[in-house]
Amino acid sequence: MAENKVKYDVIIIGAGMAGSFAAKEFCDAGIKTLLLERGRDVQHNVDYPTTNMNPWEFKYKGDLPYALKKEMPIQTKCYACREDAAHFFVKDTDHSYVQDKPFDWLRGYQVGGKSIMWARQTQRWSDFDFEGPARDGYAVDWPIRYKDLAPWYDKVEHFIGVSGNKDGLDMLPDGDFLKAWDLNCVEDHFKEKVNENYKDRHVIYARCAHLTEVREIHKQQGRTLCQSRNLCQRGCPFGGYFNTNSTLIPWAKRSGHLTLRPHSVVESIVFDEKLGKATGVNVVDANSKESISFEAKVIFVCGATINSNILLLNSKSDRFPIGLGNDSGVLGKYVAFHNYNARISAKYEGFLDKVSESRKPTSAYLPRFRNLRKQETDFLRGYAATFGGSRGTYGNSDGFGTDLLENLMETQIGRSLECGLSNDGRDYS
Ligand SMILES: Cc1cc2nc3c(=O)[nH]c(=O)nc-3n(C[C@H](O)[C@H](O)[C@H](O)COP(=O)(O)OP(=O)(O)OC[C@H]3O[C@@H](n4cnc5c(N)ncnc54)[C@H](O)[C@@H]3O)c2cc1C
Repeated sequence: MAENKVKYDVIIIGAGMAGSFAAKEFCDAGIKTLLLERGRDVQHNVDYPTTNMNPWEFKYKGDLPYALKKEMPIQTKCYACREDAAHFFVKDTDHSYVQDKPFDWLRGYQVGGKSIMWARQTQRWSDFDFEGPARDGYAVDWPIRYKDLAPWYDKVEHFIGVSGNKDGLDMLPDGDFLKAWDLNCVEDHFKEKVNENYKDRHVIYARCAHLTEVREIHKQQGRTLCQSRNLCQRGCPFGGYFNTNSTLIPWAKRSGHLTLRPHSVVESIVFDEKLGKATGVNVVDANSKESISFEAKVIFVCGATINSNILLLNSKSDRFPIGLGNDSGVLGKYVAFHNYNARISAKYEGFLDKVSESRKPTSAYLPRFRNLRKQETDFLRGYAATFGGSRGTYGNSDGFGTDLLENLMETQIGRSLECGLSNDGRDYS
C-alpha cells in the first residue's frame, strides 16, 4: 500500500522530548502512531560519532574551525556546541531568521531533538511558580496547580530516572529519586557558609536525569549506570542520562505500533471544514522534495515553541484564515524563552590537598529564594542557580620563548566556584 494511504490513529509532529514521550504513551496503549521528524534519524549508539573519542583525537582540540563558526554564529554561543557535539545543532546559514532584537534560537533538528544536547536538569515546579500570576497579577493565571501535575512528574521521573535527594523544600518538591551525587569539598564549604549566613537559602544537589542507580524499568530500556564521564552532549553509549534516542524511541518501536519517518518536514495541518477538525498533515520529504499527505484522527504538534507556532500560522483555512486555532490573533506572539545566561564565578584559595575522583556530570543547586513568601525586590518572581566547584588551572602565558615556557610550566592551581542563574528555577548552563 502507498505509504500515504495508511490510516494512522495519531500523527505526532516532531520527535524531540515531547513528541517522543507522546509516541511512547500512544504505542503503550496500542494506538497506531506516525511520528514525523523534519531532521535525520539519530539512532542510539549508532549515530554518536564522537562518544568514545579521546581529547587528543579531536582535530581542533574541542574548538570549532573558523569556517564552521561562521556558518553557526548563533548555535556556537551555546556551551555545548563544540567540536564533539556541533553536529547535533542546526547550521544557522541553512536556517536563517530575522532578528529585530538579538535572539539566540538554539535548535537540534533530528530524531531526539534537543534531548541529545540538553543539560539534564529536572527540577519540579512548585505552587510558588504556578501561583505566581495569581499572586502578583502579571500575566494569565495557570489553569492548573502543582497537585494536578505531581502524578505526571512521578510518572515521567520513574521512567526516565532522576537522581536527587529528598530535600523537603516547599519551593522545590521532591520525587522518588535515584540517589544523588555528593557535593564536593568546595560546594560543601559554600553550603556551610550559606547555612551560616541565611535562614531562607538552601544548597542542595540538583535533580538531574542521570541513572545513579539502575531500576528494573531502566534495565527494560537497555540502559545502565551513568559513568560520570561528563561527555553527555555527545550522546551516551550507556544510556546513563535520559535522551529520547536511548529510551523513548526504542521503547515505542518495540510495541510494533510506531512508524517513525525522519526527513519529513510538516508544512501545514489540514483542517476539514465539514468535520470541523484537523484530519491530516502536508509534508515535504527533505530528501526527495516530494509533497506527501498523511491522515489521522488526532494530530499532536510537538515541534518545540517556535516551530509549533510557525506550523499553526502556516495552517490556513476558510475557518482559520490567520492560522489554525488563531481566533485570538496572538499565535506567534508573547512566546517565552528561558533566560539562562547570567553567571557569577569566584576563586577560592584552599582545599589544595583534595582531588576529585570522577567527573560529575551535573552540579549543585540553589533553589529560588527571592520573592517567595513576600515581594521583597523591585522585580517579580525569582530565579535559581546551579553551581559547581572545580579545580581551576590558570596558565600564565606571559612572555616569549623560554620565559613563556617557564611561565606555562608554573600553572597555578586553585579552586573555583561557578554559578549559572536561571529565572525559571532551571539551569541550562
Ligand atoms: C544546550 C541545551 C541545554 C538544555 N538544558 C536543559 C535542562 O537542563 N533542563 C531542561 O528542562 N531543559 C533544557 N533544555 C531545553 C530542552 O532541551 C527543551 O525544552 C526540550 O528539548 C523541548 O522539547 P520539545 O520536544 O518541545 O522540542 P525539541 O526537543 O526541540 O524537539 C522538537 C522536534 O520537532 C522537530 N520539528 C520541528 N518542526 C517540525 C516540522 N515542521 N516538521 C517535523 N518536525 C519538526 C524538530 O526537528 C525537533 O526534533 C536545554 C536546551 C539546550 C539547547
